[in-house]
Amino acid sequence: MSLPGYIYLKNAIKYIAGCTAVATAFLNARSPLGHACILVCHRVANIGVLGTSVDNWNVSVDRFQRLARWLADKAECIPLHRLLEHLASARSSRPLVALTFDDGFCNFRYNVLPILHRYRLPATIFVPTRYVGSPSPFPFDSWGQKVHSRSPFLAWRPISWPELQECVDTSLVCVGSHSHNHFAAFDCTDEELLEEAMVSRNIIQSRLCHRSVQKGPPRVEMGPFWWFKVPHLGFQFNSLTSFS
Ligand SMILES: [Zn+2]
Repeated sequence: MSLPGYIYLKNAIKYIAGCTAVATAFLNARSPLGHACILVCHRVANIGVLGTSVDNWNVSVDRFQRLARWLADKAECIPLHRLLEHLASARSSRPLVALTFDDGFCNFRYNVLPILHRYRLPATIFVPTRYVGSPSPFPFDSWGQKVHSRSPFLAWRPISWPELQECVDTSLVCVGSHSHNHFAAFDCTDEELLEEAMVSRNIIQSRLCHRSVQKGPPRVEMGPFWWFKVPHLGFQFNSLTSFS
C-alpha cells in the first residue's frame, strides 16, 4: 500500500473507531467504575500545506474551537491528574473528559490557550524537554521537517519556556513530561527510560514556577508514550497511550 493510502486508511480507522465508541457508550453506562474520555491532541493550526505523504497530526483551529464549545456545553472537562478521583466519586451526570496535548507545539500557546480560556477548559500539555525552545521542527515531526520552510511557524515550532510559563500562569494548564529526547520506548533499556523520566522531570521543575493560584513547584505528570515501564519517581500521575 502506498504511504498516502496508508495515512488515509489510518485516519479512516481512527474516525470510525471514534464514532463507534460514541455510538456504543450507552452499553457501558452502568459500569460501577464509571467512564471518561482522554482526548489526545497534537498540532492545532491552520497548516496551509496539505501534503499526504506524511501524517500532520493536525486539527484546524476552527475545528478545535467547535470541539471546545461542545465540551463546555455538554461535558465536564477536568485536569488529567484528577481523572481517577472523579471516576471514583462518579458525581457528574455529564461525560468526563480530559484534554491533553502531546509534543509541545507553540500553537498550543497561540491557538489553543485562548480557546481554553474562553471556555474555561483545563488541559495538560506533555513536552519532550530537550526540544522546548528549539527554533527548528521536532526531529520526530516528519510533516514539520518536510514543510516548515513553506509553512507558518505556528504550525511546527516547538513551544518555548516563557510560552509554557504563560500557559501555566492561567491556572488552566498543567505541564507534563513527554520524556526528554522523545525516544521510541521499545528501543530503550529500563535504565534509559528511567534517565529520560528523571531528566525531564527535573528540567520542568527547574524551568517553570507557579506564580498564580497554585504555589510551589509545578505539577509534573508522566505523559503518554512509554511510561508503562517506569515507576512513579515522584510523578503525580502516569498514563500511557499508543497510536502506532
Ligand atoms: Zn510524542
